Amino acid sequence: MRISEIRVFRVELPVGEGAYSWSNDNSVAVFDSTVAEIATEAGVKGVGEICPLGAAYLPAFAEGARTAIAELAPGLIGLDPCNLGTINAAMDSRLRGHPFAKSPLDIACWDILGKTAGLPVCTLLGGRQGEAVELYRAISQDSPEAMAGSVARYRSEGYRRFQLKVGGDPDTDINRIRQCAAVLHRGDVLIADANTGWTRHGAARVAGAVADLDVYIEQPCADYDACLSIRRRTRHPFVLDESIDSLAAAARAIADDAMDVVNVKISKIGGLTKARMVRDLCASSAIAMTIEDTWGGDIATTAIAHLAHSTDPRMRFSCTDFNSYVTRDIARGAAKRVGGSMAAPEAPGLGVEPLYEVLGEPVAVYR
Ligand code: MG
Repeated sequence: MRISEIRVFRVELPVGEGAYSWSNDNSVAVFDSTVAEIATEAGVKGVGEICPLGAAYLPAFAEGARTAIAELAPGLIGLDPCNLGTINAAMDSRLRGHPFAKSPLDIACWDILGKTAGLPVCTLLGGRQGEAVELYRAISQDSPEAMAGSVARYRSEGYRRFQLKVGGDPDTDINRIRQCAAVLHRGDVLIADANTGWTRHGAARVAGAVADLDVYIEQPCADYDACLSIRRRTRHPFVLDESIDSLAAAARAIADDAMDVVNVKISKIGGLTKARMVRDLCASSAIAMTIEDTWGGDIATTAIAHLAHSTDPRMRFSCTDFNSYVTRDIARGAAKRVGGSMAAPEAPGLGVEPLYEVLGEPVAVYR
């Protein structure tokens, strides 16, 4: 089987709450998502999606994804999409770095591999484990009162895990954590995600001021060594996210005992092929994971569901249903939230069918 054509679509995903806000005054009202569709001479097609969290979260941005795909796509024409190792080697030899832009192409090839094998992607990634995967809800940064209200509202919808967007003024963040903790019930999980927004001393103050609470601390500082310093000074369970962007970074952090949980974002690592390596390394090192991505719609969410559903449930901390944060459907058959969990589709491949009437005309075609 050979790749004959790659089509690229741009689609806007409005945020249901109006906007999503996090550290360093970042906020997005309408996400700019890119869908890549790979067609083969045999007629089998696959899709993938990349939606960066704005332009200042990771070294990734939406227009950059499409520009990098223009560099990558011609090198994939004629290759066998089922040979994922060859596909990734071809992308890495043609463009250094830019894992986020390689991710939708890699995911689309997994979709084709699954359709060709007649198996859902989660089976190919290790096998479906359990009935469903538990979700967390990210709580957009706002006043402590508003965030506590959001936690209560999403709790009533079925979520039991809440990731607070902190990383602002430490005193306000202490109030955010305390007020949100006060509305939780026994067994709920609270994570304070600073998204690199704190200084070392600010992070140390917040961790100390909430020492009596059952709360995870996530990515307090931008610098890995600063995070490690805070990790060594606090008894809170500790999560790394932005710092872990490769297999090598994960291996180093495991060796350093730098985290208890890691957030495996598919596009941050470069696609399902590489995210699976990080997933398997972490699972075999007793590091639990949140399986997710930077953002996305139905296709990115479904890729998350397949990787999460094939992960050892004991190592599965949570995952994310971005398609219930946005107001626009872009595919039929996608993984959808039911209460506080979701399941990978059972159809071959990703199990999604793009809604071309929503995606519109492709912004680029390579053949
Ligand atoms: Mg995070």
